[in-house]
Amino acid sequence: MVLEPVPTLNLTGQDCLSYHQCQCVNEKAEQNARPNSELILMVKRVAILGSTGSIGKNALRVIDALSSSLAACDSSLEKEKTEYEIVALSAHSSVELLAEQARRYKPRFVTITDTDYYEQLRNLVGGLEVKILAGPEGLTEIAELEEVDIVLTAIVGSAGLPAVLAAAQKGKRLAIANKEPLVIAGELLTGAARENGAQLLPVDSEHSAIFQAMQSGSAEEVSKIILTSSGGPFREAGPEDIENVTLEQALAHPVWDMGTKITVDSATMMNKALEVIEAHWLFNMPVEKIEVLIHPESIVHSLVEFVDGSVIAQLGVPDMCLPIQYALTYPRRVGGIARRLRLEEIGELRFARPNFETFRALSLGFEVARAGGTTAAVFNAANETAVEEFLAGRIKFVNIVELVEHCVDKHSARSGLGIEELLEADAWARREVRKCIEVRSKK
Ligand code: NAD
Ligand code: MG
Repeated sequence: MVLEPVPTLNLTGQDCLSYHQCQCVNEKAEQNARPNSELILMVKRVAILGSTGSIGKNALRVIDALSSSLAACDSSLEKEKTEYEIVALSAHSSVELLAEQARRYKPRFVTITDTDYYEQLRNLVGGLEVKILAGPEGLTEIAELEEVDIVLTAIVGSAGLPAVLAAAQKGKRLAIANKEPLVIAGELLTGAARENGAQLLPVDSEHSAIFQAMQSGSAEEVSKIILTSSGGPFREAGPEDIENVTLEQALAHPVWDMGTKITVDSATMMNKALEVIEAHWLFNMPVEKIEVLIHPESIVHSLVEFVDGSVIAQLGVPDMCLPIQYALTYPRRVGGIARRLRLEEIGELRFARPNFETFRALSLGFEVARAGGTTAAVFNAANETAVEEFLAGRIKFVNIVELVEHCVDKHSARSGLGIEELLEADAWARREVRKCIEVRSKK
């Protein structure tokens, strides 16, 4: 389904200097017998949930570049230019950065989900014509806005779930970075998207790569998908080597610069486990057809094997701007800010099987994906809580996966459920993790 851009303006070439600068070839437009000077300007209206985080900031950089003269003309052969208007932004507590973004991008709405910061935000954006919303409801409100075409989900964790679901129910294009809602409520979300004509486009680099590679054949022709992983900072470690890992070591990712939660998830390889479940739902792929390979260079972002034995991969420098941009411009490709790949400078691309003994989270992830129902909500929530506790210095690195295993073992899975039951399972896992930590601390 192709997104209908609203509203559409017709401008002449003279109105848009940048159109002449980029010198697009315009065969298709000529075929359509449009006057040579006519330029169609399309506006896509974007809400960024979590605009102050690592993905959110990169998304704004991508949109800046798409709006600049360099990328002004779409590389398709049509005489069209797409502009991205930022309609809404959100942050949890980074109030100063949110206010700075509001001054720069002039959105019509901003949401601060931690209500303690509402007054401060009001003072900081005083004088701007912007509606200020607060709390989780404010997030859902901007995801549902009539005047939004694309919702870029860049919140961390399950907190994004209600807003992501609301956007799917409203039939939006979702550019999904926030993988946790898909992990917890994949069935519900994909169902809502199908029913309401919403597009779920991956921003996660592996899933964007699979999405791109899949365009080489039909879904029935896929024999398996192979998710790659850098292996994180402990790629070569044995189980005993990670016993006394420090916070600093866990946060030192060898390739990607990301938010703290996903960086810890990459160190435990919980991130790859979540991505297996994410891929299962996004591509409607049986778990048996999903594999993980360690690829330290992070150049091959993932691969798809087709029934004839052909393997199609997507390659690029490790830079989130590329998958973010593709989710915005799909089905088009346009010039952008992602650095170019020079394979001769990389020299060598290595692949290996993951060490399931060191990275127990990964084998658990496959089990959870097979179990379905409420299990993934428990798996995810236990991990989110354990990571928070690790970041706060209250538990050891290895305790993260132990606590997640404990919750998944103790939980009696239920299937075919709605959002309330999933959030109940999520809340139970959070309580269980905290209870275990408390009991241990008293010993
Ligand atoms: P981050 O921590 O840098 O930013 C998180 C954003 O969410 C911030 O804007 C923050 O204000 C907001 N936020 C935090 N808690 C919130 C809450 N309770 N309610 C509402 N908003 C809240 O995170 P990130 O690294 O940008 O990751 C965002 C999402 O994208 C995660 O789900 C992550 O797994 C996924 N992702 C990130 C990358 C990356 O390169 N950073 C790559 C692939 C996928
Ligand atoms: Mg990823």
